[in-house]
Amino acid sequence: MRKDVRILLVGEPKVGKTSLIMSLVSEEFPQVVPYRAEEITIPADVTPERVPTHIVDYSEAEQTDEQLSSEISKANVICIVYAVNNKKSIEKVTSHWIPLINDNTDKDSRVPVILVGNKSDLVEHSSMETILPVMNQYTEIETCVECSAKNLKNISELFYYAQKAVLHPTGPLYCPEEKQMKPACIKALTRIFKVSDLDNDGILNDNELNFFQRTCFNAPLVSQALEDVKNVVRKNVIDGVCDNGLTLKGFLFLHTLFIQRGRHETTWTVLRRFGYDDDLELHQDYLFPLTLKVPPDCTTELNHNAYLFLQSVFDKHDKDRDCALSPEELKDLFDVFPYMPWGPDVNNTVCTNDEGWITYQGYLSQWTLTTYLDVQRCLEYLGYLGYSIISEQESQAVAITVTRDKKIDLQKKQTQRSVFRCNVFGDSGSGKSGFLQAFLGRNLTRQNTVSEEHMSYYAISTAYVYGQEKYLLLHEVFPDFDVLSDTDLACDIVCLVYDASNPHSFEYCARVFKQYFMDTKMPCMMIAAKSDLQETKQLYALTPLEFCRKHKMPPPQAFTCNTADAPCKDIYTKLTTMAMHPHARLRCMCTCNRCTFCHLQNFINSELVQTVKAKLYTAILSRSLLFQRPSNSSVSQSSFTLFLLFFFAFTHVTQADLKSSTFWLRVSAGATVFAVLGFAMYRVLLKQR
Ligand code: GDP
Ligand code: MG
Repeated sequence: MRKDVRILLVGEPKVGKTSLIMSLVSEEFPQVVPYRAEEITIPADVTPERVPTHIVDYSEAEQTDEQLSSEISKANVICIVYAVNNKKSIEKVTSHWIPLINDNTDKDSRVPVILVGNKSDLVEHSSMETILPVMNQYTEIETCVECSAKNLKNISELFYYAQKAVLHPTGPLYCPEEKQMKPACIKALTRIFKVSDLDNDGILNDNELNFFQRTCFNAPLVSQALEDVKNVVRKNVIDGVCDNGLTLKGFLFLHTLFIQRGRHETTWTVLRRFGYDDDLELHQDYLFPLTLKVPPDCTTELNHNAYLFLQSVFDKHDKDRDCALSPEELKDLFDVFPYMPWGPDVNNTVCTNDEGWITYQGYLSQWTLTTYLDVQRCLEYLGYLGYSIISEQESQAVAITVTRDKKIDLQKKQTQRSVFRCNVFGDSGSGKSGFLQAFLGRNLTRQNTVSEEHMSYYAISTAYVYGQEKYLLLHEVFPDFDVLSDTDLACDIVCLVYDASNPHSFEYCARVFKQYFMDTKMPCMMIAAKSDLQETKQLYALTPLEFCRKHKMPPPQAFTCNTADAPCKDIYTKLTTMAMHPHARLRCMCTCNRCTFCHLQNFINSELVQTVKAKLYTAILSRSLLFQRPSNSSVSQSSFTLFLLFFFAFTHVTQADLKSSTFWLRVSAGATVFAVLGFAMYRVLLKQR
């Protein structure tokens, strides 16, 4: 909204400009007036539109032409005053004042003009007959009004119209010559209609109309008013009402009617509520709310409510209910955008169906990706979809969760994040893109159908880690690693891909690892790609396996996307697991979710066990504090030590490699030693008694 309104009164001498201003201020007709009234400011709370308003007088006797020009260019609205009983003053409106104003104002942003016929108390007839043709000739004339400073007739109305002309200008909305709304206004209202049409059936039903009324005017329409509105539309336009709801045609007609009847503030209220500024562009403050701060080491994710909203948007456009968006459906979805935000590369970034159409899962993944990589863009997009309006939130910013600082996650060995980033390194031709595409369920044959220019350096989809759905975001890093940026290096896990059939391929991975990751705590995974081909010895001092062992990495993972069906996805689950639990370096790499290990892991990670564990820790902590005081109960102390032993043995098991047979050997040996020791201690304690 504007900060203030500046109204300038011009016109021939003695038409009553100064008297009009004085009459407004003192609410009585002044017998004696100066040539020129002082500039006055009416405070916001006493003006109808709640905006501070400055009223500026002009006097030929006291002001130069330069001063007049400068006042004209400063004004937001200009009232050209004439006296209804003075023909010459009427003629001067077109012969002098309008051209003068046009000379002093920008062609593109013309100030609105109001024609004011003063001294209406002196004549019987109206000047309208003479004035109306003038109004039709000059589009900058917003309205005209006849008034009398003497009788105080229409004085406050005059200043209200002037204010309104600035705050709710007709110019951007309506073309008086063609008697219809301007294209930009039709476009904006069409977008508003589509956003408000919650079920996307092309009709605003009573529920949707009520919601619309509530969001725009803070009050639902009473049912009779609703019927009246529909009846007016029914009478005037064919197809304006359909199935007892308002069609787009009807909706646009209604707004044309508002504007034609001088009620364009109604249309402006609607436009502004949906984020439009005076030029009918979506306002920057609406699209890019400033409330969001993302500190370093934090990431941005969509919260549950935002996913629900996006889900409803998907549902409303997936007309054939095949859980995928056909090109037409996608186009329809983005119809409320000023441009198509998703190019063909998106189809190669997220999961698609057999036809190559973005699936529901893929659609949510792409939103997750945008939120993660470019949160401002995500806010902008949510703005186009009308998120804050439909979800009745203050701004789009509430859709975003800024995650906890990663350093704290690492310290606490716990994370609430749901998106993990894996940067994929490898020499050119090592199979990185294949590795990314396989995550989207595409085998080599399918990948070969994608044209080079539509390829993406990102792939995002979901993986289940111990029963929880997480997003894994793969990013293919350009192989020229002398130009690696911080974002190339910042991630949750690193993948080093080499071509197992190419002897020169591994060296690159070793080099990247040594240069960038050897001295960091970044979890790294070596991928031996193209495992369907004959494996050759790598030309490097160490074999990949030796290299991994030396640097305490998991062994190289054989991988191929040259499969008959969709490539195996286990590796991605492993990567997500490692990204989620970077501290558990030596854990078993199995994440099949079927074996005993996985079931045990699921159990251990379950909330119940975690709570019990936390409670036990607290209990132990308070007990061990007690022990620091001299205690005479050696029995309780030893039994507690036993308990501690058992407890730590138990927690150790959870981290160990349950799959290997040596582990079970160790367990049974440990259990025997534990039993023998326990029994011995028990006997010692008994003897003491
Ligand atoms: P300005 O030169 O345009 O500022 O005009 P003034 O305000 O000085 O008014 C010129 C003369 O017209 C004064 O004598 C006023 O009293 C008189 N006048 C102003 N408004 C009215 C009006 O509405 N009705 C009548 N009858 N006289 C008016
Ligand atoms: Mg004057």
